[in-house]
Amino acid sequence: MTLDNIFEELKSRLFMPDVARFYGLENNRSGFAACPFHPDKTPSLKIYEAHYHCFGCGAHGDVTDFVARLFRISQYDAAVKLNADFGLHLTNQRTVPMQQSVSPEVAYRNWLHSAERILNEYLNMLCRWQMEYAPKTPDEKLHPHFVESLTKMEQYRYLYDRIRFGTDAEKRRLYLTEHETLKKLAERTKQLTVARSAPKRKAI
Ligand SMILES: [Zn+2]
Repeated sequence: MTLDNIFEELKSRLFMPDVARFYGLENNRSGFAACPFHPDKTPSLKIYEAHYHCFGCGAHGDVTDFVARLFRISQYDAAVKLNADFGLHLTNQRTVPMQQSVSPEVAYRNWLHSAERILNEYLNMLCRWQMEYAPKTPDEKLHPHFVESLTKMEQYRYLYDRIRFGTDAEKRRLYLTEHETLKKLAERTKQLTVARSAPKRKAI
């Protein structure tokens, strides 16, 4: 099993709340726990199903990141630890199917480029919507595009920043975790662009 496969496998088999609990974090009813990565009086670490995010110090990641950070060990050692602690018995015996014609490294690089482009396009669209669909009067019903521009902007800007400026390890994990999201986003953006009647803007 390659490294990427191990991280992927761990993510699909382990839920973040279980992992957090296993290593001693107690979350309150709204899914927040005291963050072990910074002095945290009010629980500010939110535990989601597949990742955690600290609203205090910005710590963020999946199950492997969590263990790596908590025990100050490498990603690989964290994967080994999770494998052992949760008795998953993942081994490196599994054969990796050879279905790709390009090398995994090239596929990854290509994905990074397209992900950046897709996100950029989508974020530009959201910016436009925020102006074009802004309600003209206080009691006008909000246009779905306007609502989307407000609710999605931060999330996707964050993803965009991580894809552009994240560490290599972080980007490789995004490659595993955000593959579907980006694919759907590309399809959606394409449909919306086609549907848009106004003349196409010049790509920068
Ligand atoms: Zn924190």
